[in-house]
This record gives sequence, structure tokens and C-alpha cells, in this order.
Amino acid sequence: MGKTYKAVEITKPGTFHLVERSVAAPGEGQVRIRVEVCGVCHSDAGTVEGQLPGVVYPRVPGHEAIGRIEEVGRGVTTWQIGQRIGVGFFGGEDGTCETCRRGDTAYCQNPIITGVTSDGGYAEMMIAEARALALIPDELKSEDAAPLVCAGITTFNALRNAGRAGDTVAIQGIGGLGHLGVQYAKKMGFRTVAIGFGPDKEHLAPKLGAHVYIDAKAEDAGAALQRLGGADVILATAPSGAAIASLLPGLSVRGKLVVVGVSGDPIPVSGVPLIFGGRSVIGSLTGRAIETQDTLDFSVLTDVRPMIETLPLEKAEEAYRRMMAGDARFRMVLTMA
Ligand SMILES: [Zn+2]
Ligand SMILES: [Zn+2]
Repeated sequence: MGKTYKAVEITKPGTFHLVERSVAAPGEGQVRIRVEVCGVCHSDAGTVEGQLPGVVYPRVPGHEAIGRIEEVGRGVTTWQIGQRIGVGFFGGEDGTCETCRRGDTAYCQNPIITGVTSDGGYAEMMIAEARALALIPDELKSEDAAPLVCAGITTFNALRNAGRAGDTVAIQGIGGLGHLGVQYAKKMGFRTVAIGFGPDKEHLAPKLGAHVYIDAKAEDAGAALQRLGGADVILATAPSGAAIASLLPGLSVRGKLVVVGVSGDPIPVSGVPLIFGGRSVIGSLTGRAIETQDTLDFSVLTDVRPMIETLPLEKAEEAYRRMMAGDARFRMVLTMA
């Protein structure tokens, strides 16, 4: 191993730089990871475009990192050198805020966020908190595991927390999140409805496991869901507040609209369907490291895999731009030499 490693830094909003960095030792409670691959996620825009407050540049983005532990810091007793692990968006709770004190660490109010408050996986090496690691099952290739530690857990956790076997569950958007959401919904035993915008994903929907496809461009998706008896759960993945709101009339009584895709525009919600039917609109944010491990194990058990395209680390900017333009089918993954 050399004394330096390659990393892609964002030096200021919108500017990518490939740099050589010196290898550092992990601190207490941390591990150093030899990164094998890192997925490119829409949330990387928070760092790349400076959308999140308080990003300090230069910063290495990337929160779908998979690699092997190369060195463990003081106090790390449950992880060993050589283990293959993943690090997602949630980089570690502070353990002291009120939310943490109530045991809801996934919603820590002062979390470490990989690639935002700490350097992430657009690099041959990174340092992470041991408490943020998820073990990668041997059956999963690193390239396939990468999107599962963010897009995977995001959809998996939202669905398993919102629905019960037999429910009618609609996934809005067949993209980076939605193509996983449809697979998980089917494998969890839901009557699975895929909602796309246009006919181009119609052939793909049944291959992913959807029982029904609704083209929201050709018809009113809310009305189409009501013809199916109403959706117990709608997972909204497409980044459009207006499109998300248009689905509300498709919910059954007590139905839940779960938002996991951040939209630039607000979600305009009418109170009437919420009140007359006890319907709700809720959000869901990734999850804890042990839940990421659940996601990975479930994916092996039920044969869920992401659809990916790979590019070398040096082409991080190209991968990012393709993802942002919606050209990726469906997740971009950076590979290290
Ligand atoms: Zn992500
Ligand atoms: Zn906390």
C-alpha cells in the first residue's frame, strides 16, 4: 500500500478535483477502509452543489461506499481488518441529543453524514465510524451492494415500516429508488403497483415484480389506484412535489403516502382526503447501520439486485452528471483501480 491515495474532492460548489491525499490513521472508534466501489446518489448534490448548509470544502462526496477494513482505531472491538463492509448516508449518531436519548438514533439531530460532514467514498480510501458500518454478505458483489446501502435501505425500510403482507402498495417513479422499491414490495408480499410517467418503463415493471403498471402521463394515477381499491401505501420516489400530491386521492382509508425523494418544489396537500379517511403523508430517511445490514441480507434472501452502470473513479464527474440528468439506468457506481 502506498502512502497516498486518490480521491475526488469538491473544492467549491460544482467543481470536481482528482487529488492525491496522504493516508491517515483512523481515530478512536473509527476504521480506515480500502474502498472498492462507491455508488453515486442524488443526495450527493447536497455536497456537489452546496445545497446543504454547513458543507466545508474541500469535501469528498459519496455515501454508498463498499470496501475492506484496512486498519481499526482504538476502542474498535467488533470489527476486524479484512472484513468487507458498507457505509451509507448515516455516518453515526452523536448519542447525546434528545432523539438519541429516546433511542431513535436514525433521526439523530446532530449526525455525521457521510460525504457531507465527513469525507465519503469517491476515493480509494476513507475513514468511517465503526458504529456506522454494515457487513456485506459474501453472496453480494460490491458493485451491487453499493446502491443498496442508500437507495436500498431507503426503500426497504420505508416499505417494511409502512405496509403489511397483502397490502396494495404503489411505487411512484421507476428510477434509482423506485426500481428497488418495486422489487422489495413484491418480495415483501405486497400487491405491487408501479407508477411511471409514460409508457417507456411499462415493459420493465413486471420484470421487477409489479403486478400492475400505471402510466401517470396517460391517466390520472390517483383515480387508477382507486379503481384497484385504493393504495394502503404509496412510496413517492420521484422528485416532484406536484406529482407526489396528485397521488393523494389514490390512498385507501388510513393509507400512507411515504415520501423518500426530495423535491425542489413543495408538496401541495389538501386537508380533505387526509381528514376524511385518516390518511397521512410521512417522510422516511434511510435508517441505521443494522437496518442496512437487514436490507443487504433480505436482498440476498429474496434475490433483489440493483440495475447499475459502472465508471472508474476518475470519471466521477461524468457519473454524477449522468445521474443528475436522469440518464443512469438506474444507479451509477464508481470503481477503484
Ligand atoms: Zn443516497
Ligand atoms: Zn443524536
